[in-house]
Amino acid sequence: MTTAALPETSRAIVVRRFGDDVTPEAVPVPTDLEPGALLVRTTAASICGTDLHLWAGELSLPVDLPVILGHEMVGEVVAIGEGAEKDSVDQPLVLGDRVIWTHTACGSCRFCLQGQPTLCRNRQGYMYQTCAEPPYLLGGFSEYVYVLPRSGRVRVPDAVPDDLASLASCALRSVMKAFRELGQLLPSQHLLIQGSGPLGLLAIAVAKTAGVRSVSVIGGPSERLEMCRRFGADVVLDVTATSPEERASAIRTATDGIGPDVVMEFSGNPHAFAEGLALIAPGGRYMVVGQLGQGAVEITPATITAKNLAVLGSFSGGTRDYWDALRFLEVHGPNLPIGDLITGEYTLDTVQDAITAMRAEKEIKPVIRMQPRG
Ligand SMILES: [Zn+2]
Ligand SMILES: [Zn+2]
Repeated sequence: MTTAALPETSRAIVVRRFGDDVTPEAVPVPTDLEPGALLVRTTAASICGTDLHLWAGELSLPVDLPVILGHEMVGEVVAIGEGAEKDSVDQPLVLGDRVIWTHTACGSCRFCLQGQPTLCRNRQGYMYQTCAEPPYLLGGFSEYVYVLPRSGRVRVPDAVPDDLASLASCALRSVMKAFRELGQLLPSQHLLIQGSGPLGLLAIAVAKTAGVRSVSVIGGPSERLEMCRRFGADVVLDVTATSPEERASAIRTATDGIGPDVVMEFSGNPHAFAEGLALIAPGGRYMVVGQLGQGAVEITPATITAKNLAVLGSFSGGTRDYWDALRFLEVHGPNLPIGDLITGEYTLDTVQDAITAMRAEKEIKPVIRMQPRG
């Protein structure tokens, strides 16, 4: 094991009971690393909507309390377990390199073998595992995080700043995977994005970079729609200020009277699914990414048959998507207003304020910076 000098404990935001206000606590730093593991010093951790849902106890996924909140982060390598001297895309790793890393995949279950690591039956997720037992540090709102041996990890290119690398580790890798699963996009094709949160905004940037004919967005509120335009959206519709009929008419006008060839759903609103099915062009592809809640809607399945649609889902992201997210930021980041997504800066001592502001929709993507140790 190669290591820098390490403290005995890490300040971390621990959720012991859902909905309770959080303040930093001291959590042990593991003294030994398993072969293949890394220990990183967190340099930035951005807040994802899922963090809020977990904190509030609103998630349908199992959570082994107490857990360290946060799963969107970037850190600098401070200890390297045996055999972990390279990242998952064969780049050398040394102390001081920055990395982002995936939830674990076992590599040997049916889904891993079929090339679907995000569906791994033996998946361990950061922020879902207890911090009461070694290796303790499995969440992002912590000075230090333990990277499990079975987590894919990718070195962050020097040109990608901490805030954006952090955002690559959940929001952007999810978008990159959705585009990968969607398949080819052509310059003749119209695309509709439902939702103008961080994923929707990033998807606009990725779609415009891919060179489609037009990108329309249905979202809100109005300040957010202004940002959609800055990200390159051609047509922007406020979901609260328009009727479904008005939106359908505007989308038809923007798409040669036929409808979008591709619809991507990032809104999380179950009603968006029914609207997407109604708007999409015959022969179209519908990629559903935002639906993680429990809501239900009525649809007419005949629409899928009669329009000859491909309806697809995409969950989370694997190592290749993290790599693609970082490369996207390295190549296109300087020409895009992605930094505008980072709306507020907090510290471990003010995480609760960030949660409150985000729940009140006063933030898009707040970031937590770790204070240097005095
Ligand atoms: Zn997330
Ligand atoms: Zn597996």
